[in-house]
Amino acid sequence: MSPVIALHPQSSGCADVPVLRERGQREVFCGLTGIIWLHRKIQDAFFLVVGSRTCAHLLQSAAGVMIFAEPRFATAIIDERDLAGLADANEELDRVVTRLLDRRPEIKLLFLVGSCPSEVIKLDLSRAATRLSAQFSPQVRVLNYSGSGIETTFTQGEDACLAALVPQLPEPQDSSSPEPLLVVGTLADVVEDQFARLFDQLGVPVQFFPPRRANEMPPVGPGTRYLLAQPFLADTARALEARGAQRLAAPFPLGVEGTTAWLRAAADAFGVNPQRLDQVTAAPRERAASALSKQRANLAGKSIFFFPDSQLEIPLARFLSRELGMRLTEVGTPYLHRQHLAQELEWLPAGVQLSEGQHVEQQIDRCRALAPDIVVCGLGLANPLEAQGLTTKWAIELVFTPIQGYEQAADLAELFARPLNRRLRLAA
Ligand code: SF4
Repeated sequence: MSPVIALHPQSSGCADVPVLRERGQREVFCGLTGIIWLHRKIQDAFFLVVGSRTCAHLLQSAAGVMIFAEPRFATAIIDERDLAGLADANEELDRVVTRLLDRRPEIKLLFLVGSCPSEVIKLDLSRAATRLSAQFSPQVRVLNYSGSGIETTFTQGEDACLAALVPQLPEPQDSSSPEPLLVVGTLADVVEDQFARLFDQLGVPVQFFPPRRANEMPPVGPGTRYLLAQPFLADTARALEARGAQRLAAPFPLGVEGTTAWLRAAADAFGVNPQRLDQVTAAPRERAASALSKQRANLAGKSIFFFPDSQLEIPLARFLSRELGMRLTEVGTPYLHRQHLAQELEWLPAGVQLSEGQHVEQQIDRCRALAPDIVVCGLGLANPLEAQGLTTKWAIELVFTPIQGYEQAADLAELFARPLNRRLRLAA
């Protein structure tokens, strides 16, 4: 049997548990990866990475299997030729942007996305964005953020992008009616539609950020209450709060329990009768619980180890332990935002090892010693760990797949059951 730390379901969780903090070599994708799901969400936005050939390759390989139309992202390659002078690089960038916007009049929002190469770091992309915005507004707004791997892990790209958008959000116009709830964080359209229906049945007016179109930016002001749909949006939350918005404390909408508590936070804030919440959620809760019970048979008692990658690790671990009976060994996360994760931490079983940051070699040693049934990790670690006999799940798949809400709870569980079943079949 795998050595794991026993669960104590009656305990008060991990809210105060000491966290192993590591600062060493990391094995994560950079923030450019967020472009893959962001460009699908904001349908008239374009992401122009100012980077190197490596950046272009990363985007192409991450998006390669998913391109379904003319892509709304590209890389302007700044190579050594441009080292001769930054003025040349700025002129070149202006030329590229002008050509792009001439050719693609449907683009309404253009992001210049910074990256790691030193040539790019020397370019002032914020000035370039201001200059280009002045040139192309009001048809096109030009903003910038950094997706550099020096500064970001892969989900932080979304945080940086949304934080850059917050100052662009309009002020609320009508102070006589309550501000709609703001749901913050990219959700797949199918998930967003399901949540919109549930909020509608609850009588809670809602808007989503980011919106699907650049001209549908939701207003934000001191009366705005917002609910985070993703756990990796620390800078966005800070920017919203600087505009006066208040966060509704809640766990994240993963699994039946997380989704119900997330909806309840909104329902309570908007004065919805608890019985109404029960009525509205009864049918989807039952459907999800029944679908989950089938996956529980595959997953209960199996041990799991999380390498830090997506920042979804803690809500996922909570779901897998509480709703599927999995045994948590180590739960690593790139950053631990105690405030945003307060309820999630309370819901983790006592005794679980939490780690923040990474020293990849030491962590691999711990993982090997624990010999978990399944390991959640980045693509770079998956193949070597599989070769050593461990079963892995790619963290990035958990971000690309719709996993939030009742209707997706069983699909989320299946993402973990599938590699375990595959390993069983290979061993048979
Ligand atoms: S880590 Fe840096 S150089 Fe590599 S793809 Fe990401 S931004 Fe580009």
